[in-house]
Parts: sequence; structure tokens; C-alpha cells
Amino acid sequence: MKIDSIQSGIVLDHIKAGKSMQIYKYLGLDDLDCSVAIIKNASSSKMGKKDIIKIADNMDLNLDVLGYIDPDITVCYIRDGKIVEKKHLELPERIVNIVRCKNPRCITSVEQDLEQVFKLTDRENRIYRCAYCESKKSEY
Ligand SMILES: [Zn+2]
Repeated sequence: MKIDSIQSGIVLDHIKAGKSMQIYKYLGLDDLDCSVAIIKNASSSKMGKKDIIKIADNMDLNLDVLGYIDPDITVCYIRDGKIVEKKHLELPERIVNIVRCKNPRCITSVEQDLEQVFKLTDRENRIYRCAYCESKKSEY
């Protein structure tokens, strides 16, 4: 599978195998009118298996969401069939309105208008805590 098979758009490469559907959902790609290709279990010399998502449009990607789901993803911007920019992601320090706090006594459970803010407290173990009650968020 060649990356240059789209003329213009974005390619998300090096997605951990099996995570592409989750990313598809989080980025709201089903709302797009352009064509979106999901390649599952592509072979990768670096990773064994990987997923790839190709978006034939220059949409405004939320890189924080992507970095939060999988910081190992490479984002390639394609123009005229060529890669014009490559971005490597990292875990964001803060995520806002991506996940909800599960603690029923947290103020965000009562005040529904509050932003849902989580802070990265342990980069190595990828641990985020609620900015209000410090509850640990274990999965998304
Ligand atoms: Zn909380």
C-alpha cells in the first residue's frame, strides 16, 4: 500500500493495529463527506502490524485527541500526491472535553457546563487525572 495514492489530504500512519476504528470515532470521521480509507493490519517493518487511515481532505485535525489516543502515530500531510509535512505526536499535557470524569462526587458530575479537564500527571505510565478531583482516568 502506497501512501501517495491520495492526491491531497492527511494520512495517519503507524497506528497501533486494531486502534483505527477508535480513532475514526474520536475524530468524527464518519461525519466527513470526503473519502476515508481505513487499512487494518498492514505489515510494518517497525511494528509488525499497523493500521493506517487516509483522509482525502485537509480537515482540521485535533492533534491533542490523536496524541492522547496513540502518541506513536505519524501524521502526514499530502499535497499534489507528495508528503509536505510529517508530524510526530506526543501525549498532550492537558485534554479538554475528550473524556468525562467517572467520579460521581466530582464537581463536573454536578456542574454539567464545566469543561472536562484532565492533566497528564505521569507521562511514562500515561496517567491522566481529573483537574478537579484528581481521580485517575484509566481508559478512554
Ligand atoms: Zn473529577
